[in-house]
Amino acid sequence: MADKTLFQRIESGEIPSDIIYEDEHCFAFRDINPQAPTHVLVVPRKPIATLNDLVDEDAALVGQLFLAAKQIAADEGLDDGYRTVFNCGEKAGQTVFHIHLHLLGGRRLGWPPG
Ligand code: AMP
Repeated sequence: MADKTLFQRIESGEIPSDIIYEDEHCFAFRDINPQAPTHVLVVPRKPIATLNDLVDEDAALVGQLFLAAKQIAADEGLDDGYRTVFNCGEKAGQTVFHIHLHLLGGRRLGWPPG
């Protein structure tokens, strides 16, 4: 069996984290190095390495990640805006190869991102 990803080790509790949301499809926890007052990672329970590894059967799962992000944003009181980001690949800044949706809010966010 393949080694567990960092985020699977967080999911199992092997690595401590601040998990704030869970459902059958995904879980979410606060980023250890927050880039905004709210910075949460929404992670599918299925360990897909990058967006390039998505297959047709993952379409609904990706939708579930955004629905979770919307719920978390409401719970966090991000009423005046927030951003969701997937980094795909090393050049885009992906460092953990288990896809995750960044949810950022609580401050004005610049555009374009760096
Ligand atoms: P990315 O660079 O898009 O792959 O995002 C990976 C994110 O995981 C980064 O924002 C890291 O700060 C975050 N991260 C890495 N290790 C942990 C951890 N143990 N707990 C919470 N967040 C983490």
